[in-house]
Amino acid sequence: MTGVGGRSKTAGLKLRRLHKSFGTFEVLHDISLDIEAGEFVVFVGPSGCGKSTLLRLIAGLEAASAGDVFIGGTDVTERDPSERGIAMVFQTYALYPHMTVGENMGFGLKAAKRPKAEIERKVREAADALKLTDYLDRRPGQLSGGQRQRVAIGRAIVREPDVFLFDEPLSNLDAELRVDMRIEIARLHRQLGNTMIYVTHDQTEAMTLADKIIVLRSGRIEQVGSPRALYDDPDNVFVAGFIGSPAMNILDAVVDEKGGLRIGEDRLPADPQLPPLAPGRRVKVGVRPEHLLVGSSQKEGIAMDVEFTEFLGGTSYLYGVVAGGQRLTVESRRGFVAKTGTMLRLTAEAADLRLFDENGERIR
Ligand code: ATP
Repeated sequence: MTGVGGRSKTAGLKLRRLHKSFGTFEVLHDISLDIEAGEFVVFVGPSGCGKSTLLRLIAGLEAASAGDVFIGGTDVTERDPSERGIAMVFQTYALYPHMTVGENMGFGLKAAKRPKAEIERKVREAADALKLTDYLDRRPGQLSGGQRQRVAIGRAIVREPDVFLFDEPLSNLDAELRVDMRIEIARLHRQLGNTMIYVTHDQTEAMTLADKIIVLRSGRIEQVGSPRALYDDPDNVFVAGFIGSPAMNILDAVVDEKGGLRIGEDRLPADPQLPPLAPGRRVKVGVRPEHLLVGSSQKEGIAMDVEFTEFLGGTSYLYGVVAGGQRLTVESRRGFVAKTGTMLRLTAEAADLRLFDENGERIR
């Protein structure tokens, strides 16, 4: 498929050794990344980690302090935003209040002096894809937040960019609409097949939309991978704690003589498939809430004092404290509940445990 000016309609990106400082404050440190054409990539991380700045460097809205941005194999580092083949959708929609929906959507093409018939056709097609046909003559003030965000996305579609950039596009919407729009954006990606880069601090959004997630912290890439890879195999305790809700449990433990993991008086078994770690070594044990099993044995596993239970129907969450005051969350898929003060014995399969060193880096 070809777009405006016969360009290919989608493009991959290469970021090479990007740095960005505001004054003496370095916000992004040495970011290198490859994004395949057609991929849906999500930048995720806590507030202030630099995800919006990274997106703005790709868009050309900020200049890099060092490093290069390639889009579709072309070095665009010195190019203006309008010459990069990108279209950006903002959290605040950025619509013109005095223009109709149709005029807002066609504005970029009109400014580029495209023929009227072409503008009308493209606006109609985008409106169709976004279920906005009945609203084309309204003004933004007469629309709901969700509809306004659709118009902002429509305006990006009409420009037929190689790459779509989304900066927290759903954060002004209420919870229910966010879910609807998330599904809509995923559908658009399937339909259009363009490269999409999406910034959010919401790990659920990242998990459900992304082919590839980039986890950022303090201006550095912590890990790159598919949602499943990050969930199953986090490289460090930061990623382990950030991806997945409720978060992975992280417990301080000491390796015992048999290679087992001692947590206070309690013990989780060693994986017999793997060579034992040195006795006495301090480690952090990661275990997902759904991998903790409420056991019957009074001897095995770890004891948890239940503080409270959240019953959500099919799933319930049990929150409690284990030896040494460490907190734990258990997910039960069978709606199991326990009264406050109940002592539960929890076990886990050795293969479901993730081990990190004292600095939080993955060991196994
Ligand atoms: P959020 O989720 O809160 O939007 P973010 O991860 O998108 O955060 P950025 O907006 O990229 O973070 O900001 C990264 C850091 O750079 C922050 O500490 C921010 O205060 C700083 N920063 C961003 N823009 C500027 C600017 N124009 N001048 C100075 N500092 C800035």
